[in-house]
Amino acid sequence: MIIRLCQHNFHIFDFLIFSAALTILIYILLPHRFALNYDYIKKERMEEALLAITTPNISSQQAIDCSYKETIADSKFVYDAFHREKILRGEEIRLGGEYQPEECRARYSTAIIVPYRDRQEQLAAFLNYMHNYLRLQQIHYRIFVVEQSDRKPFNRAMLFNIGAKVASSYGYPCLILHDVDLMPLNSGQLYACTTLPRHMSSALDNWRFHLPYRTLFGGVVAISTSQFKMINGMSNLYHGWGGEDDDLYERLHVLSIEICRFAPAYSEYTMLKHKQETPNKNRMALLRSASLRMHTDGLNSLVYKEVERKMHSLFTLILVET
Ligand code: UDP
Ligand code: MN
Repeated sequence: MIIRLCQHNFHIFDFLIFSAALTILIYILLPHRFALNYDYIKKERMEEALLAITTPNISSQQAIDCSYKETIADSKFVYDAFHREKILRGEEIRLGGEYQPEECRARYSTAIIVPYRDRQEQLAAFLNYMHNYLRLQQIHYRIFVVEQSDRKPFNRAMLFNIGAKVASSYGYPCLILHDVDLMPLNSGQLYACTTLPRHMSSALDNWRFHLPYRTLFGGVVAISTSQFKMINGMSNLYHGWGGEDDDLYERLHVLSIEICRFAPAYSEYTMLKHKQETPNKNRMALLRSASLRMHTDGLNSLVYKEVERKMHSLFTLILVET
């Protein structure tokens, strides 16, 4: 009897080891099995989810409106040599990094806002890639780089507020808040706003194309200028790495504004390698008070000094002291 019991235990132990090994193997070979499920807008619904709105001054000489069906339907991997090619000076792109198609009238105007400091190589790669990528989408867009000139801890959210304010003064109805080190891999991730704010970079290569948590709203997000104003922009109080994107999500949540995403294949991004920035120790405490602060901390409390505004061939630089 004792022997039989031991044998029995031995089988269970064996079985546990085997199951654990199998789980690990599946995880390594098929990581998507453990992917978080989340709602997303299916291919057929993407175009109707977009917010068709442009800046008032868009030239209306073209009789025909651009069509976006192909861009959306023709979803493909584009992080190739052609897309990374260097942009030659003035190649259809206006000074300040603005572009609009000539053969048809764009239906979307988008301000791409990039918070920036000390990442020269990444910025060069970003500008080349993005202009090649975006010109094929036949939208009207402009790239704004907001650079923090002082040596205080980096304030990503405040730079977005500044960029939003400037972009709004140029009449842009749609903002895409964009890390400099993220590049879209799929040609169909249209750089236009949706009626609901959209998390665009939900399948990052760094995280094996998984979404780590459902309320993640960082990396690359699209939000209409009017919705950004409705939530008083982002917090100005997050100095250093982390938390400001969750704070942004919380602001939307307080006003019951839901977020959306495109299908995972459309939301694939690659992140350029860099060292981890120093986390802000205060971020959790700040986050807990997000909903209390939102009406007094943001666009309406934004104080900064614009040191310079310069039109470069591929972007508009807004150099600021925070
Ligand atoms: N950033 C920057 N310089 C810095 C820190 C951050 O330009 O010293 C900008 C840059 O656009 C970067 C973004 O802020 O992509 C987010 O920072 P980071 O890439 O360190 O965040 P993580 O990848 O860890 O989320
Ligand atoms: Mn990064």
